[in-house]
Amino acid sequence: MQRLQGIAVSPGVMIGEALVMDHEGFRISRRFLPRDSVEVEIERLSAAIAETTDEIEVSRKCVAEQLGDDYGSIFSAHSQMLNDPKLRRELEVMIRERHYSPEYSVSRVLRRYAKVFQSLEGAYMAERANDIFDIEKRLLRRLLGEKREELAHVTSEVLVVARNLTPSETAAMNPKFIRGFATEAGGPGGHTAIVAEGLGIPAVVGAGQFLTDVSGGDTIIIDGDQGLVILQPDEETLARYRHEIDQQKDLLARLEEIKDLPNETADGVRIQLLGNIEFPSETELVLSRGADGIGLYRTEFLYLTGNIEPSEEVHYAAYKEVAEAMNPLPVVMRTLDLGADKLSMLPTPDDERNPFLGLRSIRLALKHVDLFRTQLRAILRASVSGNIRIMFPLITTLIELRRAKMMLADAMEDLEEEGVPFDRDLPVGMMVEVPAAVLQMDRFCDEVDFFSIGTNDLVQYTLAVDRSNKDVASLYTSADPAVIKLIQMSIDAAGEAGKPISLCGQMSGSPLYTMLLLGLGLRSFSVSPSATLEVKRVMRGVTIEHCEKVAKRVLDLESSRDVKTYLREELLKLLPDQPA
Ligand code: PEP
Ligand code: MG
Repeated sequence: MQRLQGIAVSPGVMIGEALVMDHEGFRISRRFLPRDSVEVEIERLSAAIAETTDEIEVSRKCVAEQLGDDYGSIFSAHSQMLNDPKLRRELEVMIRERHYSPEYSVSRVLRRYAKVFQSLEGAYMAERANDIFDIEKRLLRRLLGEKREELAHVTSEVLVVARNLTPSETAAMNPKFIRGFATEAGGPGGHTAIVAEGLGIPAVVGAGQFLTDVSGGDTIIIDGDQGLVILQPDEETLARYRHEIDQQKDLLARLEEIKDLPNETADGVRIQLLGNIEFPSETELVLSRGADGIGLYRTEFLYLTGNIEPSEEVHYAAYKEVAEAMNPLPVVMRTLDLGADKLSMLPTPDDERNPFLGLRSIRLALKHVDLFRTQLRAILRASVSGNIRIMFPLITTLIELRRAKMMLADAMEDLEEEGVPFDRDLPVGMMVEVPAAVLQMDRFCDEVDFFSIGTNDLVQYTLAVDRSNKDVASLYTSADPAVIKLIQMSIDAAGEAGKPISLCGQMSGSPLYTMLLLGLGLRSFSVSPSATLEVKRVMRGVTIEHCEKVAKRVLDLESSRDVKTYLREELLKLLPDQPA
């Protein structure tokens, strides 16, 4: 058994069959062969080895001609390894005696060899491990041929393990079949993590190198509560996790019971509980959880799943669907927040070294005005189909906000001239996710109708920690006293100006912070739909007076560790069955 500690990004626990996605997106499962097809499969393996040997010979000749025989001989070594009789025998035994598919046998045996080389010290040995991976890839390419599949096409229940997953790959997953995932790379606040929470499947990122130790079809455990990936689990561990899964089901059933009760505190203070969505299809889940509307629609996901730029009609159709499904409840449509880890088809400049500090979000929209105009027109057109509000992301300066508002006014004027109906009084808001915006809140209060605090970015820009980098993940936390102070300043400033303010970063979906945020004066939370009921349960169990005491105490604490420890204790007092 092997336990890997990663970063927990989406809660829940799942036991299942691993589906390994390597760099090339191979998908290998432990398929068992019918007895009568063994000989055919061995022939298929032999053919793949012969073809791969020819392919390697072509590479050898080509390199030898260009760089000389010494370099060419690297490929001779590959060829020798591939045709080694011992290796051949091992593969044949797996197919003939254990009835494994050739793909699984190749992956299993070669990864075991690579692992041995990796465990030996020195650059030379590491190179040999790479050689073996190279051979494995070549062979799999031959064996799988056209049968390579994409994550979107998976039709049996699996747990995906991968080096890394982009937000768009994650968004294409069907949670009915992909029941969880774990990656070697990735950080706590990346959009891959956010999408996982949206899908409601357990996920762990930043678990470090482990793909060499797992083969497709192996039973693994993904523990999204503790951030663990468990390979080759023993019977005792499996039994413990099965018990935990049963307990989670019980908790879920109990949460369902509060779904239709009012979103209010124990002393009857009404709290707005909104949902965060990435796709129109999620409105159903938001409504089923008894939410008061949508506090954040991440519209950029329209760009991340397709390969071409969406037309105005594509934008309009999606927005209209959401507006109509939620009507008369409010929907906050955030304008495009592309860039950084959400790049999609837009080209990145070669010299972009700091994408999170670069041309992202509102900056990118204001530079690509055609793209922005298309979206603004579509939002305005959809505004007559429901209760729509518009919100600009990553606003840092007043000038930026004014330019965005000017673009909106221009789009309104164009539609008016064309006789297209839209809501002229559409409320306009901005996200508070850069410390500069917090410091200028009094000025921004004169310019917008509402605010939403984006802690995912506020944490990264306040603490100078890349939200998607696993190596600095321990520094990335909403519990940092500096972050909490900025949240307090934002809530106070909006309150003084009488402007509504919500919080839509992942922090608002964590029950750990519910009391603190209520105590700081927050009365509107926008959370991932899967977290709605857990937050509601805390809200309904506490009074504002108690939350204010909690917040006061937190504001006196000096470190994120102290804050977390204290909040955990408070939560445990309220809900003894809450996972720590
Ligand atoms: C945030 O930054 O907190 C936020 C909600 O926006 P996103 O996670 O999409 O950057
Ligand atoms: Mg953000």
